[in-house]
Amino acid sequence: MTYRRWIAEHWDQKSATITGAHAEHLARVLRAQPGMEADVVAGGRVFHAQVEAVLLDGENSEVRFRLVAELESDPALPVTLVLAVYKFDRMEWAIEKATELGVAAVAPVIARRTEKHLAQAAAKRSERWRRIAHEAAQQARRSDVPRVFAPIALAERVRAASASTRIVLAEQERSTTLRHAVDDVVNTTKGGTAEGGTTKGKAGTRPLPALEIAIGPEGGWAPDEESLFDANGWRAVSLGPRILRAETAAIVALAVVASVLE
Ligand code: SAM
Repeated sequence: MTYRRWIAEHWDQKSATITGAHAEHLARVLRAQPGMEADVVAGGRVFHAQVEAVLLDGENSEVRFRLVAELESDPALPVTLVLAVYKFDRMEWAIEKATELGVAAVAPVIARRTEKHLAQAAAKRSERWRRIAHEAAQQARRSDVPRVFAPIALAERVRAASASTRIVLAEQERSTTLRHAVDDVVNTTKGGTAEGGTTKGKAGTRPLPALEIAIGPEGGWAPDEESLFDANGWRAVSLGPRILRAETAAIVALAVVASVLE
């Protein structure tokens, strides 16, 4: 039996609680009652659970679950998507789809060809991007919610120290494909996740590489940005001869990585 999955905001050894709009929806729309069964994600672990208490009080609503038994959880893809900020509606679609495909984190960056008004509005918008990731993680029955970083300048992200293998999707690149680059990393990896830990691999316990994959804005990367990536050890790769929209490039990139790692 497949139970609806909820992502808890608070938890301890025995119980987990969802609050606010999610709890209100569960209590008022889905008429949650003590004894009702569900799956609950608490701290990256998944549990089968039973509703223990329901408090319907608008924004202060709460639903508390008793954790019954731990279930197998599927690790995220060890990928941080470095997404140049562009038209919000299409960028948010990309965040939703990347979450469904298992991305571990999304790092929005302000690139030279990010439109000025979007660059100024991005910081305020990031709370909405986190909500979109939370909703999509719940809908995709993930056992975690991808982290959505605050938007920063591209150069800061490119120069930052990182344990990950860093890849830039470059529409002008002709020789190396993303598939080649991922195969190379897998064959040489000794261990690592998107933020430097270890995780389970395709072949059971073999650790997976940690990847950062950068995707440009509508106008593409500016020449000085391409040099900056190169100077900081990012590997330029192609997704093929056709120019894809940024959100399509995000989906294709994650599908290619998943096809190698999962
Ligand atoms: N304005 C650019 C042009 O016309 O050449 C297209 C930019 S594209 C809409 C946005 C981003 O998606 C690019 O900066 C790149 O990161 C990625 N991308 C799109 N198609 C790609 C391809 N075939 N290979 C590698 N990256 C690609």
